Parts: sequence; structure tokens; C-alpha cells
Amino acid sequence: MKIVDIKTFLMMAGSPDKKEGSSWSARNWCFVKVYTDEGIVGIGEGSGWPRVVQTAIEDLRPVIVGEDPTNIEKIWQKMLVSTMGNGMTGTPGSGAMNAIDMALWDIKGKALGTPVWNLLGGKVRDRIRAYGHAKTPERAIELKEQGLTAIKTGGVHRTADQVEAIRKAVGDEIDLMVDAHGPPWYNVKDAIIVGKSLEQFNLLFYEDPVPPDNVDALRRVQDNVDIPIAAGERHSHIWGVRRLIEEEIVDVVQPDTGRIGGISQMMKIAAMAEAHYISVAPHSGSLGPIAEYAAIHVLAAIPNALILERVHDDVAVRYEVTLPHIDTVDGHIEVPDKPGLGVDIDENVALAHPSQGNTTTPGKEGDGNYEPGTYNEHLYVQTRYRRQANLRPPASS
Ligand SMILES: [Mg+2]
Repeated sequence: MKIVDIKTFLMMAGSPDKKEGSSWSARNWCFVKVYTDEGIVGIGEGSGWPRVVQTAIEDLRPVIVGEDPTNIEKIWQKMLVSTMGNGMTGTPGSGAMNAIDMALWDIKGKALGTPVWNLLGGKVRDRIRAYGHAKTPERAIELKEQGLTAIKTGGVHRTADQVEAIRKAVGDEIDLMVDAHGPPWYNVKDAIIVGKSLEQFNLLFYEDPVPPDNVDALRRVQDNVDIPIAAGERHSHIWGVRRLIEEEIVDVVQPDTGRIGGISQMMKIAAMAEAHYISVAPHSGSLGPIAEYAAIHVLAAIPNALILERVHDDVAVRYEVTLPHIDTVDGHIEVPDKPGLGVDIDENVALAHPSQGNTTTPGKEGDGNYEPGTYNEHLYVQTRYRRQANLRPPASS
């Protein structure tokens, strides 16, 4: 079998109504189809700045056309070496390799008539536990009523108050997590202060308490907070998360199934983590449904799977573009049994949502944005003024 062509599909997935001067978060999904001379077509998804990923995938066409798609590791290595003249590949490069790697696993499964999880060693479990997101107790109750058994809350403004309210609303039987979103808004001391205030709530994990760039900062948080620490969503390849795992700086590693480098890299990371008693909870905050499928196959096959992040009711198009779409029943997703990944996209739906942009655009000066000393000044390292306001207890207490 030989690869004969690839085709990319870049689509807008949320916030399509761009308003001049207002803050605008533009999310995109990038899918790839890899075509073979035997008529088998593999599907994959790449994240890590999808508009750039699309171009990177197109650039990789001459690198992979003519290759036997079942030689997945050989093709992965070839893609990395062929792009190293560009420097470290970063998440756009690994996102492109990720999409192609995923499609190759899909092709191999379809060619052999077996699901991808079977190629990865077989099933450890038949269903995957998933979690949702809630900022308010009302939303948390809604998710609990939908059957979810684990809920993550986020944000940095008086986080302990937010968690306490949600814990009271949903009870002790629901697992709770906190994501500080690797923020510029905490420094190490702030992250430790907040972490200590969260210890009483029996959290499943405390995620990205500091930005991901400085691993030593995360080490200090890990050493001072008695909650399992989770991180890894913005890194690429085994090398991006190597120190987090080898130095046991995280208890939960969170590779993003769209930009970590593919199913091949996910499996290697899971094995590295297993040796350190670290569990795996793939990130999928900004991912589309094809990457979710890939995560399900990986989590079905690895022993140290903790839970899958799911943004299950963000945009309706999530359920229009994928065939079949994923359902969460009693907080779990059934592992699919069809050959390959067991999913396809509706190309017409993808084409009907053209990309309009792919960054978070701040508003104009004078409308509250860029105000010195506030979140809106958009500095990666915030002033103490704003951080202190976030940590300060309410005036009434
Ligand atoms: Mg996160």
C-alpha cells in the first residue's frame, strides 16, 4: 500500500461572530485525510494553532506521498527530520505530524479490519470516564444531572470560594479539579497560597498552577501543595514532557491529543509516565471530535488512564461534523469497535465553516482593555496588584 495524497479541512469551531473592537477568541479545528492507492482513507486531527498546522501538513505532502502508510514510526521519524531545518518544531509542527500519525493508525486499523485500540495492545477497559467544566454551582449541578461524575472548574479569582460553592452544590461523590490555566496571573507563591487553600476540597488534581515555560516553578508548587499536580497540555513530543515525568514534577500528565505528536507519541508518554506511577488525562479543551476519538483509543489501551477532558456541549457543529458523534452516558464514553478510529467527518459541514482567524483578539484601548494593573493589560507576567485582588477574601468576611 502507498500514500497517494493528503487533503486538509480547516474549519471555524466557535466564536464566529467577530465584532470590531471586542475581545474575540477564534477556535479552529484542522482535520486531515490521507489517501492510499488501495482506496483506504485515514483521518486525523492536528491542533497547536490549526491555521498554521494546515500549512505545515500541506508542506509534509511530498515527505509522505509514496510511503507505505503502515510504517508509522518510520514516517514519523522522516517527518521530524525533514522539518528540523525550521528549528524546534513546536506545537504547530508536532500538530501537523500529529494529524498525519493519527490518520496512519486509522489506515492501519482499516487495512487490518480492527480498531486502533487493538493495534495498541488491546483493551484495558471498555469505557472511558470523562469530565466536564463548570464555573458556577448551577452549571455543576446541570453536569451532575447529565450523569457526569467529575467536574473541573477554572479561573483565578478567589478560586477556593468557587470550589467550595461547587463542592457544596454537587456533594462529595463528584470528583472536582481546578485548572488555573497556566496563567500569567499567578507567580509561584500565589500558586502555592491558592493550592494550600484548595487542599481541604479533596481535589482529583490542581492543573497548570503556573505557566508551562518554567518547569522549576512548577517543581516548587509540587513540593509545597498536597494536591496531585497536573500539567502538559501545551507541550509537544516526548521531549516536551520529559522533565515533568522523569523528575516527577506532575502526578497527572495531560498531553493534548491534537498536538503532542500523535497516537505514537501518546503511547510513549503513557509508558514513560507509567514507570513513575503518573497517570494520563489527555487535554482536549480546544480539540475537535477526531482527536477525542484518538484519545479514547489510547485511554482504552493504557493501564494508567485517569480520565478524559471533554468539552461536550460547546458548539453544535461538534455533533454535525463527526459521524458518528461521541455520547457520554453515566459520565463515560463507550470505546468504539469499528476498524481504525471508527469515525469520519462530514466534509461539507467542515467546508461550510471557513476559518476567520485563530487567535484571541483583545479589544481596543479605552474600553477597559490594556488597563495597567488589571488582567486586561495582557501581560504574560501580571503585576502584583491584580494578583492580590484575586487572592483577597471578600470584604464581608
Ligand atoms: Mg487546562
